[in-house]
Amino acid sequence: MSAVVLMFPNPTAGDDAEPLCSAYNPDWWFDEASFDRAVEICQRCPVRARCLNQALEAGETVGVWGGLTPSQRAALPDAVIVPMRPSRRGPPNRRANT
Ligand code: SF4
Repeated sequence: MSAVVLMFPNPTAGDDAEPLCSAYNPDWWFDEASFDRAVEICQRCPVRARCLNQALEAGETVGVWGGLTPSQRAALPDAVIVPMRPSRRGPPNRRANT
């Protein structure tokens, strides 16, 4: 069995973090014509890693979850989603100027 580990920037995801999709039209996540818009919003969502893990565990076959479309999720052989922690050294552009 192969495995894929996806790492998403996710510095603020606490248990109380709000999913970004809760502030938008939910149809965007289930209408293929709106998937691009939903994916763009998911990419900024603080709970993206958790959302995608839950969708993969549940075998969700419809809609955008965690920023991935159904066909993108189906292409993952066996994925573990790992939230990335912010670098202790700061953003790369700050280091480049020192
Ligand atoms: S990552 Fe999940 S919770 Fe966040 S906006 Fe996308 S579908 Fe909603």
